Amino acid sequence: MLNIVLFGPPGAGKGTQAQYLTEHYQLIHLSTGDIFRYNIKNGTELGKLAKGYMDEGQLVPDEVTIKMLQSEVDRHEAANGFIFDGFPRTVEQAKALDNFLSDKSWTIDHVPALEVPDEELVNRLLNRGKTSGRSDDQNEEVIWKRIGEYNDKTAPLKNYYEESGKLRHIDGVGSIEEIFGRLKEAIG
Ligand code: ADP
Repeated sequence: MLNIVLFGPPGAGKGTQAQYLTEHYQLIHLSTGDIFRYNIKNGTELGKLAKGYMDEGQLVPDEVTIKMLQSEVDRHEAANGFIFDGFPRTVEQAKALDNFLSDKSWTIDHVPALEVPDEELVNRLLNRGKTSGRSDDQNEEVIWKRIGEYNDKTAPLKNYYEESGKLRHIDGVGSIEEIFGRLKEAIG
């Protein structure tokens, strides 16, 4: 079992690196953003609820997000491990994750944190918005709101994982291959 929380602000490259890591370590990739978008596309109740928050650059409430993530983990009982991408984003989500993993005698092994300066994040997201079709990437105000949410609610989680000795700071600026190399080195 190998469980990785890939940590970092919006636009840090979590999705891209998670795909590489998933293949390399044969893990299940769980991206809360992707799952919400899939639900929006399919018009589910969860999608309808999440859309309002996502369009505003706000976090979806913990209760909803935690329930959804837990049911995704439960669907993959036989997995080698997971990459959590975009989850947890609050201390409450992190505690819930620890609790339900420990019910299965699982644990988080590594928390690599991709570090990228804010101006670079905004440029990357605006660029992605040109091709991704994601409306939350096309509006600079929404992008700054997401970075604000990250600084307020998600960045404090670094302390949570630092205390357990699992956090590793990774320079998130460079080529995709360079950053992937840094991640592999951190994970071992
Ligand atoms: P990014 O990392 O670029 O912000 P994501 O696809 O991870 O993009 O997330 C898009 C949006 O989905 C977030 O702005 C937020 O509204 C919602 N979301 C994703 N993950 C979570 C989470 N763990 N808790 C609450 N909301 C979330």
